[in-house]
Amino acid sequence: MTLPPFELHRPESLEDATELATRYGEDAAFYCGGTELLLLLKLGFASFGHLIDLKRIEELRGVRAENGTLVLGAAVSHRDLERSQLLHERLPAMAKMERSVANLRVREVGTLGGNLCFSDPHSDPATFLLAVDAEVECRRGEGAARRLSIADFVVGPYQTSLQDGELLTAVRIHALPEGASVVHAKFSFHERPTATVACLARVVDGVLAEARVAVGSVGARPVRSRSAEEALTGAPVDGLAGDVLSTAGERAAEDAAPVDDATGSADYKAQLVKVLVERTFRETLA
Ligand SMILES: Cc1cc2nc3c(=O)[nH]c(=O)nc-3n(C[C@H](O)[C@H](O)[C@H](O)COP(=O)(O)OP(=O)(O)OC[C@H]3O[C@@H](n4cnc5c(N)ncnc54)[C@H](O)[C@@H]3O)c2cc1C
Repeated sequence: MTLPPFELHRPESLEDATELATRYGEDAAFYCGGTELLLLLKLGFASFGHLIDLKRIEELRGVRAENGTLVLGAAVSHRDLERSQLLHERLPAMAKMERSVANLRVREVGTLGGNLCFSDPHSDPATFLLAVDAEVECRRGEGAARRLSIADFVVGPYQTSLQDGELLTAVRIHALPEGASVVHAKFSFHERPTATVACLARVVDGVLAEARVAVGSVGARPVRSRSAEEALTGAPVDGLAGDVLSTAGERAAEDAAPVDDATGSADYKAQLVKVLVERTFRETLA
């Protein structure tokens, strides 16, 4: 497998990146770590005369806190997130999730932004970010930033709501509600996850005041299972009844709309989701 020839551009500002994208139109593509895009080029599934490397754009880098909100630059690698002191302090479940992505080689160069923009249905971060109600920030050149929920950003397999020439600049995660606990789990046979589940629980006076259940990697896109959340919300935590968890698992499996693919049959994945949701939700209460 060899890479076809292309011209490499290394802009240092968003404005220059957008200008290049406008100049070369459909013959140009953004790239960051290249773990998805370069593979597509090598396999002949895509072809571009111009690649626009985003790694030198300062605005896309770094992990910072803006008051209670964590702001993760789109060009931050999985490895940097896994090791970020700030993430460990503010949202350790995300640092742990990042440590489970792919392998060291991919995590070292692959980025959070690249993962979300590629929108492979088998994504750990997309599932996790749904459970924590994250927002993404997109911008084109000098234009105003557009903020949208992660649910509105990930539209379907390999499809996002990015507009022409627009870049994903950052992921924003607001502080979790007081007392909330979040856990991410995955199950994989191959390199990419077969099923991903992220659950959040907030307990007040022994009762589940808030429950969130996000499921991904089994269907066309990650989803929040509102019907599973309804089954859990209001339930007493002490000895959380098996039938409540079981109902939540069944509803989540239905809402996730599993499909047959190389990682398993839809029926198998529905069963996997049911088990993972029950187990993961229980873990949020441990
Ligand atoms: C072997 C292997 C195992 C993997 N396992 C997992 C796993 O377990 N869990 C998981 O979640 N993922 C997994 N992945 C996916 C991995 O997380 C992604 O490959 C990586 O995060 C992509 O980031 P990148 O910077 O390399 O993207 P690139 O290849 O650089 O870009 C991907 C796409 O996004 C676009 N893009 C990139 N950045 C931006 C931006 N800021 N704005 C607009 N468009 C942009 C590019 O144009 C391109 O279309 C795996 C991948 C491999 C190769």
